[in-house]
Amino acid sequence: MRPDLLNPLFTEVEALKGVGPQVAKTLHRLDLRRTVDLLFHLPSGVIERIRAPAASPALLGRIVLLEVTPFQHRSGVGRAPFRVSARDTDGNTITLVYFNNPGWGKKSLPLDERKLIAGKLEAWGEEWQMIHPEVLDAARAADLPLREPVYPLTEGLTNRRLAEMVKAALERAPELPEWIEPSLVSREAWPEWRRALALIHSDPLATDARKRLAYDEIFANQLALLLLRQSSRRKRGVPLAGDGRLTDRLRLPYSLTGAQRRVSEEIRGDMAQATPMLRLLQGDVGSGKTLVALLAMLNAVEAGAQAALLAPTEILARQHHATLLRQLDPIGVRIAILTGREKGRARDSVLMGLASGEIDILVGTHAIFQEKVAYRNLGLAVIDEQHRFGVSQRLLLSSKAERPPHLLVMTATPIPRTLTLTVYGEMDVSRIDEMPPGRQPIETRVVSDERLGEVIEGLGRHIAGGGQAYWVCPLVEESETSDAAAAEDRATILRLRFGADKVGLVHGRMKGPDKDAVMASFAAGELAVLVATTVIEVGVDVPNATLMIVEGAERFGLAQLHQLRGRVGRGEGKSVCLLVRGGQLSETGRARLALMRETSDGFRIAEEDLKLRGPGEILGTRQSGEAAFRLAGPDDVQAFAELARSDATLLLDRDGGLGSARGQAARVCLYLFERDQAVDLLRSG
Ligand code: ADP
Ligand code: MG
Repeated sequence: MRPDLLNPLFTEVEALKGVGPQVAKTLHRLDLRRTVDLLFHLPSGVIERIRAPAASPALLGRIVLLEVTPFQHRSGVGRAPFRVSARDTDGNTITLVYFNNPGWGKKSLPLDERKLIAGKLEAWGEEWQMIHPEVLDAARAADLPLREPVYPLTEGLTNRRLAEMVKAALERAPELPEWIEPSLVSREAWPEWRRALALIHSDPLATDARKRLAYDEIFANQLALLLLRQSSRRKRGVPLAGDGRLTDRLRLPYSLTGAQRRVSEEIRGDMAQATPMLRLLQGDVGSGKTLVALLAMLNAVEAGAQAALLAPTEILARQHHATLLRQLDPIGVRIAILTGREKGRARDSVLMGLASGEIDILVGTHAIFQEKVAYRNLGLAVIDEQHRFGVSQRLLLSSKAERPPHLLVMTATPIPRTLTLTVYGEMDVSRIDEMPPGRQPIETRVVSDERLGEVIEGLGRHIAGGGQAYWVCPLVEESETSDAAAAEDRATILRLRFGADKVGLVHGRMKGPDKDAVMASFAAGELAVLVATTVIEVGVDVPNATLMIVEGAERFGLAQLHQLRGRVGRGEGKSVCLLVRGGQLSETGRARLALMRETSDGFRIAEEDLKLRGPGEILGTRQSGEAAFRLAGPDDVQAFAELARSDATLLLDRDGGLGSARGQAARVCLYLFERDQAVDLLRSG
């Protein structure tokens, strides 16, 4: 249960003075629903006003508070604006310009009356001018803050109005006990929580306040993850030690890499324990994670348990199912697939097979862990390309069950350690740091879209020689419709050139079975070119495809480009990746694409991406609907993750945990940042 002292923060915004249903609706558009949301809606900048006796060149471009006396009104002819000529106390002429509502201008700025105005001072030829200055009465002018925070807004909401609401929210904010290690607070000279909030809302540049709040959030995150780990470790799972009878019969066309062997051993070691495994498997694209998953699942099946493999997309689920079926069917392992698409009879029969134990391995999308799906004996859950899944989903899996399954999470995003900590902080980590032998480096080239004709010619030569290729079309402003349209147009053009039967198309708006059919015929080599949106970003494996063309490459994140590029270079053939860029490219845009050309080191690319885009983006947590952090930015994560980790560890291991005085405060912090789940677990565990 949330501590009572936080209650005022978790009331709906309607509880604030002056917020009615209409305003509340507007606030909801900014995702501001409760008092606490307003508190954490931090200003993005600041307006600074200057009181000045008169206009002067030093004030150009600044927001200036001036005393003026209007001496002439000029109505605009046609669409020309209404103008007021006024004199400041030094006798300079300033023109005040109003584009609409001349009546208002006339009334508010009567001739020969002194008025206070506030607006941005600009030069217009030889004259001074202000566009739409505010007109203030003496009382308002005295109240007007010289520094005013500027908030992210939405239509129907003025900055001033929002600032007032934030102020009301601040008044409701209680004093909270200190949860940060005292020596740290004093070393950093951080203000206490409530003070920090007040500071940052009056001055967004208050660095210490901002840092403190970011730290709080990162600390809550670390503490929650450690608690999850603790609670999950306290549960007893089922030790699973396979006898090798199935793995021995497996026919692989190649032998394991040293890294695959090593991590498989680590996994076997974990699974043999009664404490459920919580392991993250990191390995760059193409490093062969699927095989490691396969071995782990066979280990479970040999020990008499079931295994489940969760994929983030339908396409990937089907691909995994096909691969596994090919390898496992001959050795008598029973494998099934379940996605949102299996319905009616098909679905019922899978459910029955799972409940009876007739199915050994289930592959699928989210559907496989829905509540209605009951396993007879689930011993291992593998989650592929985890970055699309959040902590809470992981939790549902591992912590709710009476005897939780072993959990293996696989990700191709080679994220830096600080991010691993914040996102997978409850897990042990294994790394595949070696590629399968015989891989040739992918040659990456950046070409301007002015040379699209040559690119298409090159594609023609490539497929004439029996090669296959991907052609990826960029996301168009988050709209699936227009992505799909762009991809359709591109497919049409390529079909005209190479023949309709040679070019396939997949995009997010197609029906599942249609997508499958296209993927299958591309995998079978019937199609030479696959035009796609980023639906193929993750996991797709067609080793014969050795040419990747990415259109509008500058619009993709680096990690995403790395993923896309990872679709080629999977076989022994030489692979090429063409990054086709638009004409208008910024300096950083150029540098980013140059980095892609220079390196295939996923780790370096991820770090660059982190610098450029922040942790939420790189990990795709937005897609999974789980906001990473609301206050902390990438730099804060970089700066504080380790510190918060050790602080939280200290609290739990040495300072008496949540039961101690500081622990009670830390509990408040967990609830403040809505890491409730962690606390709930602790209570139930
Ligand atoms: P990812 O780690 O990106 O999921 P995959 O598991 O899809 O990589 O493997 C990439 C490709 O490498 C696949 O075609 C797979 O068959 C092949 N592969 C995996 N392990 C080896 C190995 N030890 N030797 C040679 N090829 C391998
Ligand atoms: Mg994979």
